[in-house]
Amino acid sequence: MLKSISPFEKIALVGIGLIGSSLARVIRREGLARHVAISTRSQTTLARARELGLGSSYTTDVKEAVRDADLVIVSVPVGSSGEVAAEIAPALKPGAILTDVGSTKASVIAQMQPHVPAGVHFIPGHPLAGTEKSGPDAGFADLFENRWCIFTPLPGTDPAALEKLSEFWRRCGSNIDTMDPQHHDMTLAIVSHLPHIIAYNIVGTADDLQSEAIKYSASGFRDFTRLAASDPTMWRDVCLHNRDAILEMLGRFSEDLASLQRAIRWADGEKLFDLFTRTRAVRRSIIEAGQEIDAPDFGRHAIEHPVKG
Ligand code: NAP
Repeated sequence: MLKSISPFEKIALVGIGLIGSSLARVIRREGLARHVAISTRSQTTLARARELGLGSSYTTDVKEAVRDADLVIVSVPVGSSGEVAAEIAPALKPGAILTDVGSTKASVIAQMQPHVPAGVHFIPGHPLAGTEKSGPDAGFADLFENRWCIFTPLPGTDPAALEKLSEFWRRCGSNIDTMDPQHHDMTLAIVSHLPHIIAYNIVGTADDLQSEAIKYSASGFRDFTRLAASDPTMWRDVCLHNRDAILEMLGRFSEDLASLQRAIRWADGEKLFDLFTRTRAVRRSIIEAGQEIDAPDFGRHAIEHPVKG
């Protein structure tokens, strides 16, 4: 049934970094649009997108890109989504679907919604798929395969538009879920945002110590450095735009860390063993749910596909 959906006449990709360029690649592979308009802020990134042959047309004029588009996907750092929405609003076609891929949802909605013209279907979204790389070279068509894409639809969202967008993401390989923005932000704070903050913190501490962290980096530290190599702009924006949920989760994390510290101090081996046994089972459950395999780097490395046809 999914294979029978008709492609969009024109999709506009606003932002062509890791996520935007992965979308461009999967749209082409699956034939999801007749025309893909690519827009980005800088001439350098635009030139690279053109060299990679990611779309049908290229411009730094975002209004030109979204004009006549049936689907507009905004893939820029969350702190810039309001600015982008304000700029594209006058050029959006009535009946178009406008979505985003931002890692935080309540803030993106607050920034974008006021600019969305009547008759345009604004459906906030977030594909739970990514790597620590950024820019148009980093994308790959399989990025969204078997990952979740979460929508946080606003009250009164047109069910037909939501279904059309869901079908699009299913064709990109994703599983779909919907939830309210606050629930999204709280959930992502613990499964995505906190792990990055912890990684930034531990790698920063090791760096401060001037230790031989690089020479003797064990696999545990190396795993943290992968997360800590993530894009500084993106993660600065995530921290600033999901502040309350992150602070709530950091509070819980600190309490639990203090309890762990106490168990170590008092040589409470039983407590340590119980916790480590419980957490090992969590990893097993994630593997059983098909969201990880029993080897490092699953879903994080591009499967080599030639970019230019
Ligand atoms: P990226 O690779 O760094 O690409 C960012 C894109 O946004 C580039 O085209 C860049 O343009 C453009 N951009 C940057 N600042 C801008 C501004 N102030 N105004 C307009 N355009 C701007 O980023 P990404 O990893 O694709 O992330 C894009 C979005 O996806 C973010 O909201 C992020 O939260 C979300 N997301 C990321 C991941 C992940 O793992 N990376 C996963 C899920 C969702 P120029 O290069 O031309 O400056």
